[in-house]
Amino acid sequence: MASIDWQRATRYFLMMDFLKGFALGLRYFVAPKSTLNYPHEKGPLSPRFRGEHALRRYANGEERCIACKLCEAICPAQAITIDAEPREDGSRRTTRYDIDMTKCIYCGFCQEACPVDAIVEGPNFEFAAETREELFYDKQKLLDNGDRWEAQIARNIELDAPYR
Ligand code: SF4
Ligand code: SF4
Repeated sequence: MASIDWQRATRYFLMMDFLKGFALGLRYFVAPKSTLNYPHEKGPLSPRFRGEHALRRYANGEERCIACKLCEAICPAQAITIDAEPREDGSRRTTRYDIDMTKCIYCGFCQEACPVDAIVEGPNFEFAAETREELFYDKQKLLDNGDRWEAQIARNIELDAPYR
């Protein structure tokens, strides 16, 4: 006749495994959650976060971009296309500024190359689209992005300035 494992039997009758599992469940029920209820909750973003592109303006509304084409030259994905013409006052401005966001690899080189902080990668990461065409950004779209996000972009540049 097989001998009885009293230790195991006691554990079984006192439901020790069940109680241990229940206690573990309770502990995690009241512990702080490590998940977020996106899109109602969002995590913190670094000032260096590289999101959707934007073209910025000066406070007087004038475009910052001086059509130097450094961003176009440095872009490893060749995603940027710029045409430029001098204005009547002799200043140089773009007549076309396109970014093919389907090519962009979000490396941030365009932003780094820009001498006047005109093209930036802003804090917006919610710009998913249903068609490719929606991701071919033109100058107006980029300027609109700049107007929409200027306050946060300016703050991010200010926060990052001491490390440059
Ligand atoms: S982030 Fe990089 S890949 Fe995208 S447009 Fe700028 S330079 Fe090109
Ligand atoms: S966005 Fe900046 S780097 Fe690109 S053309 Fe304009 S001024 Fe030059």
